[in-house]
Amino acid sequence: MSNESTSADVVVIGAGLSGLVAATLVLEQGRSVVLLEASDRPGGRVRSLHDADTGTVLGDLGPTWVWPPYQPVVIEWLQRLGLHTFPQFETGRAALDYGPEAPVQFQTVPGQHGIARIAGGPQALIDALVAKLPAGILSTGVAVTAIRAGDEEIVVETSGTTCRADQVIVAAPLRVAEHAINWSPALGDDLFRALKETPTWMSVHAKALIVYPSAFWRQAGLSGRIASRAGPLAEAHDVSGQDGTPAALFGFVGWPHEMRAVNKDRLETDIIAQLVRCLGEAAAQPTHIHVEDWAANDLICTPRDRAEAMKHPDTGPDVLRQTHMQGRVAFAAAETSKISPGLIEGALAAGMRAAGQVLGSQP
Ligand SMILES: Cc1cc2nc3c(=O)[nH]c(=O)nc-3n(C[C@H](O)[C@H](O)[C@H](O)COP(=O)(O)OP(=O)(O)OC[C@H]3O[C@@H](n4cnc5c(N)ncnc54)[C@H](O)[C@@H]3O)c2cc1C
Repeated sequence: MSNESTSADVVVIGAGLSGLVAATLVLEQGRSVVLLEASDRPGGRVRSLHDADTGTVLGDLGPTWVWPPYQPVVIEWLQRLGLHTFPQFETGRAALDYGPEAPVQFQTVPGQHGIARIAGGPQALIDALVAKLPAGILSTGVAVTAIRAGDEEIVVETSGTTCRADQVIVAAPLRVAEHAINWSPALGDDLFRALKETPTWMSVHAKALIVYPSAFWRQAGLSGRIASRAGPLAEAHDVSGQDGTPAALFGFVGWPHEMRAVNKDRLETDIIAQLVRCLGEAAAQPTHIHVEDWAANDLICTPRDRAEAMKHPDTGPDVLRQTHMQGRVAFAAAETSKISPGLIEGALAAGMRAAGQVLGSQP
């Protein structure tokens, strides 16, 4: 039974990038907003490791890259929030790793055109958006459990509260919205199927961040890039700050999630052994190592995501970009976007589209 009741013009569910953008734009038009986030922090898939003493961002645990020449919506929001990008560090040779029994080969490999990093990481986008929210809009640690639509209003339930609203923007991952939220009346078949069948990009992956006192690989003429057939890191990249500090590498873990879950300590030891093999003895002395396993996060990854091989995101069906429940509900997750679905740019664009829909400026 709910014991506390609030109301707002618009409830936004999920304070990842898309939910934060949607809430910002709706607030700007003078409508009242309640922004409900199930986890204990905003950001969703955008997450950074911070230095425990100074609070400095040490590196990204979620997304790292944007592609400004191809992503006008990213440029628009970076300008709006006063942020800038710098090129991904690609100078020097990459290490091609065939495992402990074979010599590592070093080779210059071309970087991707336009690939860039946001100064401060994508976390800077989240921090800037959260800083602009008026006090009291964002509640963390509040998981939405049910959405009930009536003729006059829509009721959003959490464990212990209800919030009455005119409209709702669902910015939780689509499969999570289908799996964890009780919908009344039941969702239409087309929408139900689309939510279930749209994987959440990168949700089944794990990212390792390894921080060092200096970017020693750069001095050795290496880019920090590793391509490996042996693992545990299938690939690694330099993720140091713009001026080389903090010095860090990140890698995508090649082990499947079942193996990661039961071998956490061995995973870190094996990652360090791989980095020593590829980059030299200095790799044995990191100041921090952190593996963020997104498959273990039930607010991002569902059993269905864990059961399927991850495919690169496609543009989903139009039903994901339409309003539902008599125009009262719009979906905003990155995977609903027509441009850059699943990516940072998709999250920004989808948040903008959903805000426009509830504000009535788009059909
Ligand atoms: C490891 C990794 C690497 C990536 N690399 C890149 C990259 O390099 N470049 C790029 O462009 N993109 C990348 N991405 C994708 C990018 O992170 C996403 O596109 C973007 O962050 C999605 O934002 P979102 O707001 O749509 O969803 P999310 O960030 O998933 O936010 C959804 C929010 O909803 C909350 N929520 C869930 N259920 C509930 C509930 N019941 N009630 C309330 N709140 C709820 C969640 O806690 C979460 O905060 C990467 C993602 C990962 C995981």
